[in-house]
Amino acid sequence: MFKKTSYFLILLIIAGCSPQSDFEKYKEHVVTLASDEFEGRAPGTPGGIKTKNYIANHFESLGMKSFGDSYLMGVDLTGITLDENESSFNLEVYGETLDIKYKTDVVYGTTRQVENVSFENSDLVFVGYGVNAPEYGWNDYKVDVKGKTVVMLINDPGFELQSTEFNGRAMTYYGRWTYKFEEAARQGAAGVLIIHETAPASYPWGVVENGWSGEQLNLTFKDKNLGRSALEGWITLDVAESLFAKMNTTYDEMKSKALSKNFQPIPMEGMKLSSNMVSSIRTTESHNVIGYVEGSEAPEEFVLIMGHWDHMGIDTSIEGDQIYNGAVDNATGTAAVMHMAEIFSKRSPKRSVAFIGLTAEESGLLGSAYLAEYPPFEYGNVIGGLNLDAFPAIGKAKDITIVGYGASELEAVLDKHASAEGKYLAPDKVPERGYFYRSDHINFAKKGIPMIYADPGVDLVNGGIEKGLELGSQYTTNDYHKPSDEVRDDWDWEGIEQDMGIFANFIDDLANSGEYPNWYVSSEFRAIRDESQNN
Ligand SMILES: [Zn+2]
Repeated sequence: MFKKTSYFLILLIIAGCSPQSDFEKYKEHVVTLASDEFEGRAPGTPGGIKTKNYIANHFESLGMKSFGDSYLMGVDLTGITLDENESSFNLEVYGETLDIKYKTDVVYGTTRQVENVSFENSDLVFVGYGVNAPEYGWNDYKVDVKGKTVVMLINDPGFELQSTEFNGRAMTYYGRWTYKFEEAARQGAAGVLIIHETAPASYPWGVVENGWSGEQLNLTFKDKNLGRSALEGWITLDVAESLFAKMNTTYDEMKSKALSKNFQPIPMEGMKLSSNMVSSIRTTESHNVIGYVEGSEAPEEFVLIMGHWDHMGIDTSIEGDQIYNGAVDNATGTAAVMHMAEIFSKRSPKRSVAFIGLTAEESGLLGSAYLAEYPPFEYGNVIGGLNLDAFPAIGKAKDITIVGYGASELEAVLDKHASAEGKYLAPDKVPERGYFYRSDHINFAKKGIPMIYADPGVDLVNGGIEKGLELGSQYTTNDYHKPSDEVRDDWDWEGIEQDMGIFANFIDDLANSGEYPNWYVSSEFRAIRDESQNN
């Protein structure tokens, strides 16, 4: 039986009507993008330039259309590098300076796009989760914190309280560090320190340390981003424990106080932060790489397929392997965009289909933020989109993971094509990690465009869910955002191959149907979509 099926499949492949016949090319793209020659694909570096040219050349070879005269669409960025030797972070307790080491104990810097930023003797205040959420009747800022340094926990109260507050264990935007810094700036704080704890952050200190040292990229702001707090940073749980010990309390006690709507900010008596930050500023332009296949009947309507091409580059300060190859994150997704482009360049869809390699995702979803602000298409005409970010090659699964499951009607379309392959759609198993807010689609969702963020399944054909979750957490612990995220000989590509076929059918369906999918009524993005469709 199995043999007959295989034989039939082989015939299909020879007939050339299956996208799987191109799968070897997909693998080649992954291997190339993740090679040392591409130097970890950091924007603004030779490896970054090599990467975007590689994608653009591929689009050109396929004869794809471009917006304007190039596949490369400019994104203005500003990089800030803290000079750690010239800068100071002085945390005093009753006049005595604590021995705190950069990277080991604290990471800090400024997002103000100027060379010198300093402040002195800013009083520390513990502000719980640092959340001001009117719709949940929750406000951790019950006192004036202007000029102060606010110290806070990561994630939102729902993570510990489970189903009683916020969205239970599933993270809301209030749990993200990006939100915490934004809110502290709105409150006028001079400094912001987030206490790292592995479980609610969902990643170990090493991820914070790597992500926050070295050059920090951001969009270029006309106001030089002066509205932000002077200093933004993280401290380790150990440092927090030692500060709380000096207040005759503990981290656990402070956290339990923070888990109440009636929480009152707690002044950290005798503790003051002074900092002088000396940074070098570099402006640079990076590029999103975009090509499209023009629709034969409704060329103004678009289906979007995206994946971020950038990764973390090279870190010459570490011992051993210094290249962040980013094989899973996101050579696999970038290659998928290139692969889909090749498939659709040979078809003639009724609607246009755009293939987008996004830049500067790792620096805070910057390429997608820029594209969402300055789109070459009308939002009301975008049918929907698929974001592909990180496909661990852990073998064939019975499911496809949908991050942020239950959001839009696109799920029904994808489900149809997954079912045809005997697969089911499964909600993301760890909504508390807030992955829905941690990848590029979110910038388009905020504009109302229905977006699906799909990951490989974890219900493995060989080994089931237990094995799938184990392999997934091995990746997060050992390789995620580390130089060891490399292509390995023992990768099992079969699951990815199957999913690529399903995604191609999904896109094909969207590009050829007359449907206008929307967010489900319960979604926070539905109203925005309705409005853009009415215009
Ligand atoms: Zn990624």
